[in-house]
Amino acid sequence: MIPFNQPYMTGRELENIRQAHLNRHLSGDGPFTRRCHADLQRMTGSPCALLTHSCTAALEMAALMCDFAPGDEVIMPSYTFVSTANAFVLRGATPVFVDIRADTLNLDERLVEAAITPRTRAICVVHYAGVACAMDAICDIAARHGLVVVEDAAQGILSRHRGRHLGSIGSYGALSFHETKNVICGEGGALLVNDPAQVEHAEVVREKGTNRSRYFRGQVDKYTWIEPGSSYLPGEITAAFLSAQLDDAEALTRRRLAIWDTYHAWAAPHERAGRLRRPTVPDDCTHNAHMYYLVLPGLNARTRVIEALRVRDVNAVFHYVPLHSSPAGRRLGRHVGDMAVTDSVADGLLRMPLWIGLEDQLPHVLEAADAALRLVD
Ligand SMILES: *Cc1c(COP(=O)(O)O)cnc(C)c1O
Repeated sequence: MIPFNQPYMTGRELENIRQAHLNRHLSGDGPFTRRCHADLQRMTGSPCALLTHSCTAALEMAALMCDFAPGDEVIMPSYTFVSTANAFVLRGATPVFVDIRADTLNLDERLVEAAITPRTRAICVVHYAGVACAMDAICDIAARHGLVVVEDAAQGILSRHRGRHLGSIGSYGALSFHETKNVICGEGGALLVNDPAQVEHAEVVREKGTNRSRYFRGQVDKYTWIEPGSSYLPGEITAAFLSAQLDDAEALTRRRLAIWDTYHAWAAPHERAGRLRRPTVPDDCTHNAHMYYLVLPGLNARTRVIEALRVRDVNAVFHYVPLHSSPAGRRLGRHVGDMAVTDSVADGLLRMPLWIGLEDQLPHVLEAADAALRLVD
């Protein structure tokens, strides 16, 4: 069976872990964490990157930093992973779900303004498949209404919008290094803090609400509880692994892009024949080949294609039960508009295998997919 995902190892992870072992610094914020912070800042252009134990944790940090009051609202897409909404719900905020664009499957910026109420405090965008949202329009709306912009850039490492890295554009950006993402360490993430004035605040929230970071820099002579926070930092073993991956991030992204480009060229005739829609990458976006997806005509077609791929030993998957129609989403949030694109994409979207090393088996995958797609005619 050709798996949907296979984690890529650069070959230097174990050597880094051995070094961390020799360093005898196993808790967080040791030399490898500092190296990752510097690498991420250089790679993204953000003034501050802080490793976390997941992207979920980074989103929770961003939500804590926003200091919501119960009933405050956060506008976000419904077509996303649960963490996007959970982070804010845990702070007492209400997710307000807005439909996505049919081309990029990102939050439809043309629908955002109609969802703003006096309780709206933030917009949380999700850069789906590592392709940027329309950040100019979204940041403009946010500025006019005094809203915070949080970027769920879980899928977006090394993707850019008009030259700016995803996660570095809004007030906060959350990256994921989960095993299923491009750059990995098992479970891991980072918060990008793009306003230098908020960096110390973020350090406090990440270090259990204490000024421990200032203490270690010698800026205060004792450390103490400053405000609500939690423990969001990963240990050094995780950072050591991640550091090896960050060293290779550009090269591994190029390898993913080659596979993505092969899929995209293969899918073009199927799109012309009306069997599917291919991903759209707007001209002002540079993407990272996080995902190759096809949008099939509906649930029935998708179910048959997945099964036809499975009997040919190819594991293709779908994702995202829309949050607005999930049990928790209905209870804890609300939606604005008819959510028609979200509902139809949730039924029709199919994710093809995409991992480094798939190159050899890609001809077989494409043959299997050609055969499977004949079922759509
Ligand atoms: C993967 C993902 C997350 C969660 O990342 P973790 O590191 O597993 O917490 C959040 N949002 C989106 C859009 C994701 O794809």
